[in-house]
Amino acid sequence: MRFTVAIDGPAAAGKGTISKGVAAHFGLAHLDTGLLYRVVGRRMLDGEQPVDAARALMPEDLEREDLRSADVAQAASKVAVIAEVRAALVDFQRAFARRSGGAVLDGRDIGTVICPEAEVKLFVTASAEVRAERRYLELSARGGDVDRAQVLADVRERDARDMDRSEAPLKPAEDAVLLDTSDLSIESALAAAIAAVEAKMPAKG
Ligand code: C5P
Repeated sequence: MRFTVAIDGPAAAGKGTISKGVAAHFGLAHLDTGLLYRVVGRRMLDGEQPVDAARALMPEDLEREDLRSADVAQAASKVAVIAEVRAALVDFQRAFARRSGGAVLDGRDIGTVICPEAEVKLFVTASAEVRAERRYLELSARGGDVDRAQVLADVRERDARDMDRSEAPLKPAEDAVLLDTSDLSIESALAAAIAAVEAKMPAKG
């Protein structure tokens, strides 16, 4: 079965949790495409040229444990504006999307650029304040000094960079199902996503 679920949306909208939940529910493989840009961003912080880092990317790089920090998130959104970086990452994502058994990919441009032919497209969003609060709680739970106002400023900065860039800007595909999670529990958001996927699943048998 070839079956692709494309889940896009801004940072901390709940995409990651929803994508993992949808993949687990339907037994699909899952790729968090933000990790690809995070690896390249991490390598840029370590002094490499982003385009070279993107061309040299290996699947095992996605397992690196130093990809979740705020610095790496900002670096990822900076390298993500470079057309050659994006181009170097396309084939890996498309091959993953069309693997047999089906796949869920989450990111910013999956439904618009990487897999415009995806069987299901979801655009998961929430207000900047709600997303910043979630990110703040996540970062504080990991320990360390986190400043609420700074987290909101970072979220807004990254949104602006992701939405205003000329290469594959963050926006819903025309045929995407919109899911605003601002007032939803994660259980309700996941249930809504599962229902949207279920509606497009090929009938069994
Ligand atoms: O999803 P995550 O927060 O890990 O993504 C980090 C950054 O990578 C985003 O802010 C965005 O700039 C970039 N990205 C992208 N296209 C994707 C996934 C992530 O441009 N498909």
